[in-house]
Amino acid sequence: MWDLLVRGGRLGWLPGAPAGDVAVGDGVIAATGVELAGGARETVDATGLHVLPGGVDPHVHLNEPGRTDWEGIATGTAALAVGGVTCAVDMPLNSTPPVVDGAAFDAKAAAIPSSAVVDLALWGGLVPGPVDRLDELAERGVVGFKAFMSSSGIDDFARADDLVLHEGMARAARLGLPVAVHAESEAITADLAARARAEGRVGVRDFLASRPVAAETDAIARALRIAQDTGCALHVVHVSSGAGVALVAEARARGVDATCEVCPHHLVLDEEDAVRLGAVAKCAPPLRPGAERDALWAALARGEVAFVASDHSPSPPSLKEGSDAFAAWGGIAGAQSSLELLLSEGVAGGRLALHALAELFAAAAARRLALPGKGRVEPGADADLVLADLSAVRVLQISDLRSRHRLSPYVGRRLRGRVVRTILRGRTVALDGEVVGAARGQVVRVRRAA
Ligand code: ZN
Repeated sequence: MWDLLVRGGRLGWLPGAPAGDVAVGDGVIAATGVELAGGARETVDATGLHVLPGGVDPHVHLNEPGRTDWEGIATGTAALAVGGVTCAVDMPLNSTPPVVDGAAFDAKAAAIPSSAVVDLALWGGLVPGPVDRLDELAERGVVGFKAFMSSSGIDDFARADDLVLHEGMARAARLGLPVAVHAESEAITADLAARARAEGRVGVRDFLASRPVAAETDAIARALRIAQDTGCALHVVHVSSGAGVALVAEARARGVDATCEVCPHHLVLDEEDAVRLGAVAKCAPPLRPGAERDALWAALARGEVAFVASDHSPSPPSLKEGSDAFAAWGGIAGAQSSLELLLSEGVAGGRLALHALAELFAAAAARRLALPGKGRVEPGADADLVLADLSAVRVLQISDLRSRHRLSPYVGRRLRGRVVRTILRGRTVALDGEVVGAARGQVVRVRRAA
């Protein structure tokens, strides 16, 4: 007797998506196959739907504890759940205290079980200061360490200069954990921003021009050299340019353990959207010309991008107001829409096979970050599943949003492909856009043999 039987869906992680069943026992996948025998306590009819592994979003900013008025664990994970994500990895900078030592990890981890709708793992922070703190974070099970090569926008999460990066990456290598970098040159971006503001040029196009592709490639090249010197695994978050992805791919080809991610906003929006939408679409690195967006899709198709991450980074609406584009909070709240955007623009758009999407939005990040039990639908893995209707068409409404603040650059967008049901360790946590049942999310801790 299974606990749960998902019957008759199309198994979307397999090429050609053959019809089949998924059986669950004790929260893990027990079997997959055609017309599985045996009864179940609960049966879900997935006829007409596609079954995918629960999404793994390795880059979100949930802000709790400390900035829960920006976004909280309950609201952020509600958005993730209705968007088909069953495990996310929270960034260390936006909470108070920032997660740069063991005590801060414990404070955030304590807030998770009572409120998280999906499972959460944590990035630790690599900032100036005693490098032994990385050991404390590793002991507690962080996936790796995040560093900013340019200002983070958060005063108590300082930028890592090249020496801090070098020492931190050497320690991370010894701990067997990757370092993730926000790769933009502080020298270039800070000077260009100061020059523009001094001249009173504070519009959206002025902001875009202050963070050129050259600032990204300069920082990526430096980070790759430090990774090569230290033997540290490097992950470059939210790469926004074809040249940036190419640098990472070239380094990997010569043996550097380097990967990169791209974000849905860089795949489906461009600089004209940035101008049209204003602060709701402000991010760093910023939205780029359409040619860069196309280059990222091409890089995805070539397998040069490890995975897709939302970089969900909300703020209160008041921080998105005013005419100074430099002053608005930089961050796009998009985690709820990642999978539906990839289904719509990628799969329905003919740019991405469904099984490739399952790799890019679940399996690859789980593998790179060593998240136990996540990202795959196979016996023994966590029973994290998404049921999606690939033919459903709708226009995203403000009322659909489940984040703390209902801000999204995708409101009004026509989407083909809809998340119908999200299952976390065998229990339905979201159905037809609404959270179901009590919060069941757990802290996912990474154990690596260093
Ligand atoms: Zn981020």
